[in-house]
Amino acid sequence: MTRVRFAPSPTGDLHVGGARTALFNLLFARKTGGTFILRVEDTDGARNTEEAAQGILKGLRWLGLDWDEGPDAGGDCGPYFQSQRKPIYDAYLAKLEAAGRVYTEYSGAVRFKFSRTPITVHDLVCGDVTFAATEEPDMTVRRPDGSYIFHFVNVVDDIEMRMTHVFRGEDHLSNTWKHIDLFNAFGATPPTYAHIPLILNPDGTKMSKRDEGSAVEKSYMNEGFLPDAVFNYLCLLGWTPRTEGEKLSRESLVNLFDPAEIHNANARFDMHKCQWFNAQYLRALSPEELLSSCRRFIENAGYSINDEAVAAAAVYSVKEKVSLLTEIPAWVHYFFRSDYPYEDEVMVKLKAKPENLTLLKAACECFRTLSEWSESTIQTAIEETAKAHSFKSGALMPLLRFALSGQSRGPGVNTIAHLIGQESTLQRIEHTLGLIG
Ligand code: GLU
Repeated sequence: MTRVRFAPSPTGDLHVGGARTALFNLLFARKTGGTFILRVEDTDGARNTEEAAQGILKGLRWLGLDWDEGPDAGGDCGPYFQSQRKPIYDAYLAKLEAAGRVYTEYSGAVRFKFSRTPITVHDLVCGDVTFAATEEPDMTVRRPDGSYIFHFVNVVDDIEMRMTHVFRGEDHLSNTWKHIDLFNAFGATPPTYAHIPLILNPDGTKMSKRDEGSAVEKSYMNEGFLPDAVFNYLCLLGWTPRTEGEKLSRESLVNLFDPAEIHNANARFDMHKCQWFNAQYLRALSPEELLSSCRRFIENAGYSINDEAVAAAAVYSVKEKVSLLTEIPAWVHYFFRSDYPYEDEVMVKLKAKPENLTLLKAACECFRTLSEWSESTIQTAIEETAKAHSFKSGALMPLLRFALSGQSRGPGVNTIAHLIGQESTLQRIEHTLGLIG
């Protein structure tokens, strides 16, 4: 049975590189029917915060990277916070002492005696990487204050939690010989490593915390992305599945995943492409799903949803016009309020020609007589009104759109009128007539 883990250090937000590492671990676990573990590497009291840990869990949950063992999920290898595992580390240090592989310095620091032999990492992505016998000083594993350093706890927990594979960022490859040296000293078999390429900015520089698209919560959760779209996009950063097309369900991604296909060149992040994915996913949602995804953005913009069915149809009517959920409120606000503003250019256009008034009045009268209020009866009414005044319906459409929404762009006029209802349609046209007349 394969066992893999994501082992974040809670020093800040969940970064897209971290999310992608978690994702590859998850894909591998699901593909092989194994177990995906979350372990929080929080032994650095000065840099780690509980807030950061919670933020990382929140980001992982949002992306649907559900772990089988770890915080809140339990498991028989807990606790899953390294800060709570000190007795285990003490016991492992005693093993190294017994084997004569550590010594205590005058300062109180405990150092591990490197084997000083060449060490080869058999990496699934990078191939065999051999490190010559080191000339570095022996490695501190326990600080004078009794706290343990990253390399030590990382290896102890990979042994204790019975990891079979480790997918992690390429930045760790250069230290992997130290980990293997420790595994050997414990008489344990190292896991199979797969060091995955880093994610770079579009200009090839290393992506840092402040770069566009780097923080999962700030750049994706709060910016109107759908988790499925981000999941799909991140999978393709450093891996090209052997299949046609790029929009792939989680299930297909799991089925297609093959660690041997992970690139060994760094990946470049592309926000436009990520948004393109989001647009594809957004357009594939049902009206109800779309509403449930964008509800918080509509409510945060200050609009309240009274009629669920109208709201669902309203957001659905603009799905082709947006890539992000955050763009939706500006497209649909007039469905949720009658005191919507009129764009400046809309007012100018409405007042530009005297016949506009006549046309709008005529449309209003025609709408008033309709006994059935459907998209098709509304459409016919618009066409007939225009014809009666020797205009093309194309001339009346924008005027009605201006009147009903205050905007120059949006879904079909008959869709708007149908959704806001006959009474509101008449009121809005009359109100507009009052403004321009
Ligand atoms: N805590 C390490 C990090 O966040 C994990 C390294 C590993 O996956 O082994 O980079």
